[in-house]
Amino acid sequence: MNESDTSRHFLRQWIEKDVAEGRTGGKVVTRFPPEPNGYIHIGHAKAVCLDFGMAELFGGECHLRLDDTNPTKESDEYAENIKKDIRWLGFQWSGEGDGKEPGFYNASNMFDKMYDIAEELIRRGQAYCCNLTQDEWKEYRGVPERPGRPSPSRDTSPERNLALFREMRDGKYADGEWCLRAKIDMASPNIHFRDPVIYRIRHVAHYHLGDKWCVYPMYDFAHPIEDALEGVTHSMCTLEFEVHRPLYDWVVDRLDEMGLLPVRNGVKLRTQQREFARLNITYTVMSKRLLLQLVTEGHVSGWDDPRMPTVCGMRRRGYTPGAIREFCERVGVTKVESESDPALLEWCVREELNQKALRRMAVLDPVKVVVDNWQGGAREVELPNNPLDESAGVRKIPFGGTVWIDRADFMEVPEKKFFRMAPGQEVRLRGACIFKCTHCVKDESGRVAEIHGTWDEASWGGNAADGRKVKGTIHWVDSATGVQAEFRLYDRLFTEKDPLKDGPSEFLKYMNPDSLKIRRGYVEPLLAAAAPGERFQFERTGYFVADETDFKPGSPVFNRTVSLKDSYKPS
Ligand code: ATP
Ligand code: MG
Repeated sequence: MNESDTSRHFLRQWIEKDVAEGRTGGKVVTRFPPEPNGYIHIGHAKAVCLDFGMAELFGGECHLRLDDTNPTKESDEYAENIKKDIRWLGFQWSGEGDGKEPGFYNASNMFDKMYDIAEELIRRGQAYCCNLTQDEWKEYRGVPERPGRPSPSRDTSPERNLALFREMRDGKYADGEWCLRAKIDMASPNIHFRDPVIYRIRHVAHYHLGDKWCVYPMYDFAHPIEDALEGVTHSMCTLEFEVHRPLYDWVVDRLDEMGLLPVRNGVKLRTQQREFARLNITYTVMSKRLLLQLVTEGHVSGWDDPRMPTVCGMRRRGYTPGAIREFCERVGVTKVESESDPALLEWCVREELNQKALRRMAVLDPVKVVVDNWQGGAREVELPNNPLDESAGVRKIPFGGTVWIDRADFMEVPEKKFFRMAPGQEVRLRGACIFKCTHCVKDESGRVAEIHGTWDEASWGGNAADGRKVKGTIHWVDSATGVQAEFRLYDRLFTEKDPLKDGPSEFLKYMNPDSLKIRRGYVEPLLAAAAPGERFQFERTGYFVADETDFKPGSPVFNRTVSLKDSYKPS
């Protein structure tokens, strides 16, 4: 991709400038901060590519930080899979880490520090405990156009606040009874700046720390502390956090006053936040909450269902990490919200697989073809593994005179311009010979049961000795050695461009009833020994991957990754 367009985006320029002006202490440090409350999806992949990509570009470090400050919904299963998916995308976290592993952090490991910082804010008169209800607070906080009113607790003494905060911590109060607010500016036109909550009471066990805490820090307080204390220099997040940035900076200023900002090579590291537009894709939903709903209600087989926009779903579908990275690159980093077409991602997948995938033959909707004048047992056909890559070599496939072909490749009464198999018409059986159909046999229901014909014995290899042209070439699977297989054909999960157009409670009605079709057919013998996760081009049929979970050597299962062709062209 051209250096001058999407890759030199505003965030890259922002970092470049800081590097040039010596603000990083010699090392760019970024972070990717997923909450372990679900699997990562293609939207997260964009953030992964950006966070890790920028660190790589500037020779710095990217931390993987599990933002596990919200005690509900989090789990180690999610955490482990997030790591697996990031590695699969081709990235590795690095840096010091907070104990177990280089570059890896649990935000919850900072709870003690965050708590201490909160107490220090109280001592400095910069935070206070408040017991207004949410409804009352709405009233006090007011609207952007007019200043709000101070909470009755706003001017309580630090001593009293400290005692209250400790009582909150010690479990004396119920959820919501009290909270800790930063004392900032009740007249600010930015609502987030009007004495925001920084600690709240939640009597919920944390997945790592159990019942140690019943007060938990809010994101707006926790995130800048995590960034700052880890020595992050550039903190990139999605646009909805732009209005929170003054608060981010406010917290960093307080840390600075407390002398808590780290120093690297004589440079005090002041983390900064910038925002970019999130990735949206049409014909799917992306919020983890809705994806979880699809899973728990059984609308899909799991987070890794190949129709899911999750990274693990895409892996199981056969998408490649390279194609996902290329897609993120092409979508680009901007400040304008937009929607991307899933066809662009499919195009990226197809481009890569066309270069790399080994060619094989598979018949998804089989009908038998008998070569009546075949004699002398099986012969071997030799075909290239990949015509675009000579180094991929060739393969040998037995041909014994009886083969499966796809039903759609035969017409008893051919339409105009139907150059495939039909009585009286010659076709090439790919790599084997020229075959002329004579007739077909039908079952009681009138369905074609068997096709008969003869081969031109001077055409072994597929070309006529006299040089006559044969228009149609048909893929086939030898019936004696072909292996039965299951094919899972996937389509979009939703029929509507924006499944949320009627609100999040209505999106299920736009699910595509035909998003999964199962076919049973045959594959050439080599495919029985494919490795789960191995990708192929089934000639004339599409790109397929051996299912990473259900593929067994005796009973192969292939997922269709993407069709062979599409009219889509990237702009
Ligand atoms: P969701 O809303 O899908 O549940 P989230 O934003 O709550 O996602 P986090 O785990 O908090 O998920 O996100 C981790 C990082 O990924 C954040 O920095 C977030 O900004 C980024 N991110 C999440 N969704 C997208 C997206 N669609 N496009 C780009 N970045 C995203
Ligand atoms: Mg989040």
